Amino acid sequence: MVTASYGESEHPRERALLSADAKAPTLAEVVRVLQTLYPLQYAESWDHPGLIVGDPTDPVRRIVFAVDPTMATIDRALEAGADLIVCHHPLLFRSVHEVSGFGVHGAIVGKLYRGHCALWVGHTNADAAFRGVGQAAADAFGLVEERPLVVTGQQNGMQIGIGRVGYLAEPMTLRAFAQHVADVVPKTEYGIEVAGDLEALVTKVAILPGSGDSEFDQVRAADADVYVTSDLRHHPATDALEQARHEAALRRAGVDVGKMTERRDDADVEFDSDDANASGKFDVFSGTACVEAAGSGHYVGIGAQNRVESVGAADVMRPALINTPHSAIESMWFDYAAQDVPAAIERVTGYRPDVVRLTESTDPWLLVLGRD
Ligand SMILES: [Zn+2]
Repeated sequence: MVTASYGESEHPRERALLSADAKAPTLAEVVRVLQTLYPLQYAESWDHPGLIVGDPTDPVRRIVFAVDPTMATIDRALEAGADLIVCHHPLLFRSVHEVSGFGVHGAIVGKLYRGHCALWVGHTNADAAFRGVGQAAADAFGLVEERPLVVTGQQNGMQIGIGRVGYLAEPMTLRAFAQHVADVVPKTEYGIEVAGDLEALVTKVAILPGSGDSEFDQVRAADADVYVTSDLRHHPATDALEQARHEAALRRAGVDVGKMTERRDDADVEFDSDDANASGKFDVFSGTACVEAAGSGHYVGIGAQNRVESVGAADVMRPALINTPHSAIESMWFDYAAQDVPAAIERVTGYRPDVVRLTESTDPWLLVLGRD
């Protein structure tokens, strides 16, 4: 099943008429704009995003956004009259030695050239960028005081980089936050998976849309209560959860491990001692900064910016894990890109291209069995 939404350009024909006086920009001009919004130097060294297919002199009147350049996506985009497809995932990820019609990638390249349709990929450069993939997901989940999980550069005076770390406006249980994630991420057949103490309060959230099990050390260093990512494999996920459980057991035994020490040292404690006394329970590992939250068995304290941080009960394993469908969470980037790209092109060229956003799921799994 294929669906499309017209997002920014609700009425493409009207929009085309409005823009009729302005000359459509060339692909070369549009690529320059795209690579101002999502600079290629932000890409990981192994990644090769940018213009993959296209004649730089062709005009661009209509842009289609889609996560994956599958054959179905290409066909749908050509049907929709695309001059340019902006995808998140690469078409040619590993080395390529031919683009004949015997291979699907060659067939796609040929189909795009015959259709005068370009393909531009915003992959890890778009992950890192301002209003890129990571920020789009973090904003959609309602995080505040965000920063990159791994800082790799600066854009518009803001830190940019891999993943995001931020806070929920109010602590909530892992169960409630996971439900929130499930509500916000576009629906897929297999949904999301959760590991951790479902009733523990979470406040500090790390997010990495896409394959994130290489970044557990960064998540631990960021002191996150929960990590939202995709493609969590058995062994890295099990190791991370086992370590989290082990550290929680050590804390229960009075051994100060994990990032709790840093959190305590960071704390700019402006705690109202009357409130603390009223709760009657100071936390064992932070001494003065934490009190039990409403008899929940969980502890909250005051962080460096006077933000109430959930530091969890001493025996709570952190970080919990939320495994999301890879393409679905990354497709949330288009909430921003489908606005930002035509607006930037219009600012630079005076012409606002039509925007079509393909919303069908390209996560591969259609059927989930054996859960009963
Ligand atoms: Zn991805």
